[in-house]
Amino acid sequence: MQIYADNAATTRMSEAAIQTMTETMQTWYGNPSSLYLIGQRAKEKLEEARKEIAQVINAEPREIIFTSGGSESDNQALLTAAMNGKKRGKTHIVSSAFEHHAILHTLKKLEKNGFEVTLLPVHSNGIVRTDELEAALREDTCLVTIMTANNEIGTVQPIGEIGEICRRHGVVFHTDGVQAVGHLPIDVKAQNIDMLSASAHKFHGPKGVGFLYVRKGIVIHNLIEGGAQERGKRAGTENLPGIAAMTTALKESAAAMEKNNAHMEKIRDYLIQGLSEIPHSALNGDARKRLAGNVNFSFEGIEGESILILLDQRGISASSGSACTSGALDPSHVLLSIGRIHDVAHGSLRLTIGETITKEEADYIIHSVKEVVAHLRSFSPVWRDLTEGKKEFILK
Ligand SMILES: *Cc1c(COP(=O)(O)O)cnc(C)c1O
Repeated sequence: MQIYADNAATTRMSEAAIQTMTETMQTWYGNPSSLYLIGQRAKEKLEEARKEIAQVINAEPREIIFTSGGSESDNQALLTAAMNGKKRGKTHIVSSAFEHHAILHTLKKLEKNGFEVTLLPVHSNGIVRTDELEAALREDTCLVTIMTANNEIGTVQPIGEIGEICRRHGVVFHTDGVQAVGHLPIDVKAQNIDMLSASAHKFHGPKGVGFLYVRKGIVIHNLIEGGAQERGKRAGTENLPGIAAMTTALKESAAAMEKNNAHMEKIRDYLIQGLSEIPHSALNGDARKRLAGNVNFSFEGIEGESILILLDQRGISASSGSACTSGALDPSHVLLSIGRIHDVAHGSLRLTIGETITKEEADYIIHSVKEVVAHLRSFSPVWRDLTEGKKEFILK
């Protein structure tokens, strides 16, 4: 059996998105900045895509900038808020401890340039507390950036409440919505979101393309200087095949969202129940306030990397942290942020299922993980120390 259970790392492109991409490359190959007909047709396609993307999140077309993906959108959003803040003497930023590295590394860079950053704790359930967020706001706070849903443990943040608090305090609110767009309903107006990052390859679109929503009225700062594309805010000939395919994928995901989530939640809970039977294991993150496709477990006495290799041999593609951190020996900053100690965080497994998952596949996953964990524990010195009472179990 082959089961792709790493949809938080990337998703397979949908057939419709592949078709749109191919057709756009064949037919709409003109440069949208050119004045002749095939250029102008490409321009029309581009603006049609912008309108359709905007509709899905209840934004206006001119509030959408096309980018190369989630990382670029995150960088541009943070730089935009930081530069605007600095002009008014506001150099304090509030974020959370378990953001994606595209956020955390950009914040580090801003710190080196005189900004002060408060990282809110996310507690054992993996959720930011809005009272703590409000208490962290200062006179000189120029930005709050909190992700909509976490890419490792799938926990969904109270974005609407955070947006309301920020609006009340006059602070710009950005959310990294890369795991949420196409998977959860987003309404930038109702949720008071000022900036939102999204990436096509997380919702069955192509890699290397995404968008940034910036509420009108906010002065946008460029990362890339050059031509006047994207109203001068993001230079470079537009990736029209990618943008058109992203639009197809987003419309498709949005239309099937409710149905897909209902199905995935059922299988997710079935997986959680099955894996909970493994002794000395624990689910990471809130059991209910999480993405429909996310299952993340820690197993005491083993190494996450070895689980992955053995699951791969059984045809299951999964992850132990985020794709960016696996390979490095540091345990995931996300698992540490919810209070998992190093040893326990190391023995973690992330399964992110897609909408095509079946109950039979879930049974195969449960069976395989049980076998693999038992096998690895059978020769783990840490496990021996735990069972012989030389070390104390941390997970029940
Ligand atoms: C994948 C991801 C990103 C990065 O997106 P890219 O398009 O791969 O650059 C940023 N934030 C989150 C939460 C993600 O899951």
